Amino acid sequence: MSRTESTGRAPSDGLVGGEAFYTAPPSECTMIGVISRDDQSAAVEELFQLFKTPWEMYKPERSYDVVVATVNKIPDVDARLLVIYGAEAKTNDATNGVVGRSRYQGASLSYGQTQLPIYGEVLTFEEGSAAVPCVAAGTEVAGLRVCRTETTLIRVGYDLFEEVDYLLTVGQPPKNAAFPTLDVHITMLREWILDCGIALLEIPPVPAGHRFIVCLTHDIDFAGIRRHRLDHTMWGFLYRSTVGAVSNLLRGRLSVRELLRSWSAAASLPLVYLGWAKDFWEPFGWYLRIEKNIPATYFVIPFKRRPGDKVVAPHASRRGAAYDVSDLAHWPTALLEEGCEVGVHGIDAWHSAEKGREELEKIAAVTGESRIGIRMHWLLREENTFRVLEEAGYAYDSTVGYNDTVGYRSGTTQVFRPAGARTLLELPLHIQDGALFFPQQLDLSESDAWLRCGRLIDHSRTFGGVLTVLWHDRSHGPERFWGAFYVRLLRALTTLDGWFGTADQVVGWFRKRRGVSFERIEGTDGVVRTRVRYQGEQILPPLTIRVHRPSAAGNWRGTAVGTSSNFVDITWNGETTADLDYECDSVALGAAGGSSLR
Ligand SMILES: [Zn+2]
Repeated sequence: MSRTESTGRAPSDGLVGGEAFYTAPPSECTMIGVISRDDQSAAVEELFQLFKTPWEMYKPERSYDVVVATVNKIPDVDARLLVIYGAEAKTNDATNGVVGRSRYQGASLSYGQTQLPIYGEVLTFEEGSAAVPCVAAGTEVAGLRVCRTETTLIRVGYDLFEEVDYLLTVGQPPKNAAFPTLDVHITMLREWILDCGIALLEIPPVPAGHRFIVCLTHDIDFAGIRRHRLDHTMWGFLYRSTVGAVSNLLRGRLSVRELLRSWSAAASLPLVYLGWAKDFWEPFGWYLRIEKNIPATYFVIPFKRRPGDKVVAPHASRRGAAYDVSDLAHWPTALLEEGCEVGVHGIDAWHSAEKGREELEKIAAVTGESRIGIRMHWLLREENTFRVLEEAGYAYDSTVGYNDTVGYRSGTTQVFRPAGARTLLELPLHIQDGALFFPQQLDLSESDAWLRCGRLIDHSRTFGGVLTVLWHDRSHGPERFWGAFYVRLLRALTTLDGWFGTADQVVGWFRKRRGVSFERIEGTDGVVRTRVRYQGEQILPPLTIRVHRPSAAGNWRGTAVGTSSNFVDITWNGETTADLDYECDSVALGAAGGSSLR
């Protein structure tokens, strides 16, 4: 396996095109046929961008290894594995001995040891002697496996594509934030296919040689305390750094040393205003120092003293920032020179394309970049936000996350295309400092916060995808003192096998992966090939074409998410043409393909 850069680099501008051919005997050339309702096509397409494997809408004249269906009228299909989802009765339930039991609106299911929240309807089944339970709803059965000689049937009591649609539009409530629900759905389907003894071609959501991606981001809300004179921010700071600090000391959340630093910072305020003492909230120098050689993304305010329109929240007028990008002097240039990115911390862009464009242009004029991304101040958004942002010209958004907890609003570690967008992609936000530590949010001790972050890191390394971290600009200084925790988190992340990229680089990598397509080619020799196509900029770091080799048919695990499968990986940057011949246990690249085997 060729190792790739561990820090992000801007891709070269040269357009390349490449094709890879995965050749397999017809019986091993897995193409998933999908039979869904007409109104589910967007969810189907997005699911198979995240679970990047060959698929097509079901064609009756073809035979498939795997058919996935959510319709109620199930045709007679020629497939080795038929996975039927849905809470409605299906036309073939009776012939398969499947008998419904109870219907629920939403449920917490379990797949082995893994919990799976379901947001739509769930049907449970009577346990039959010919069927083996594979998904549980408490003491009841919500998924069954019926083994027959020709076709294995998996009957699941919820609708996969309805769940995908719900997760990517409405998203999970904070109480379920800890569950990477969408990634678990993908894992279940993959495991059912492999456990049936069917080979699978897949492009995992992570660059070759890495287990996960890390995207460090900073929302710049203040850019120092010196612009806050006699306003609510200053009074709030004075209260929290004196009285609040004593309370935090008594709660065990602050050390005596930090208490004294807090008091000293409060006392130094007049000198900070006079320019005689260091501004202890100044963010850029501190972050550049501790993130040396690691690219980060800074979302900065385009217009000061603008609280924005349509803000329905207590103290909406306080949303206006005391600074904007034109007050940052040399810092934007310094950040760009260090390989960092500067994006828009949006004010009105979430509801107005015109204002969004104005905000974009203000930042682009400073950075000189043509591709600009955004995260909304206070994480505001509404139903039309993604369409509006796309119309304003943004390349990506990174607003979908929680203010009050950490985890997976959309149930995934992956960059996805949000509803209403055609080109704009969403970089989901997973960890933010305020959610972990604010008394009115999770109010965690450092050790509890560490455990929470550790679980999210583990998920990323299991499923791939990105872990997006937000640490605010003033969090390192008094009176928060969340800097030490961040340094520890950063140190832990850099010792793992992650690829660090700016938001634009990470989104760009996923965009290229989305640009890869599969094509079914039937040769005159009767051999069916899967052609992997890509046209565009070179994929850096390269992706992996993974060939999962099937376990023996009937070797059912069906127990734990993340079970390692037997696979061969090919590193591919989309530039070369490669003939991939899948034999018993090896994959060989054609002459032009470079090489890497695992
Ligand atoms: Zn903000």
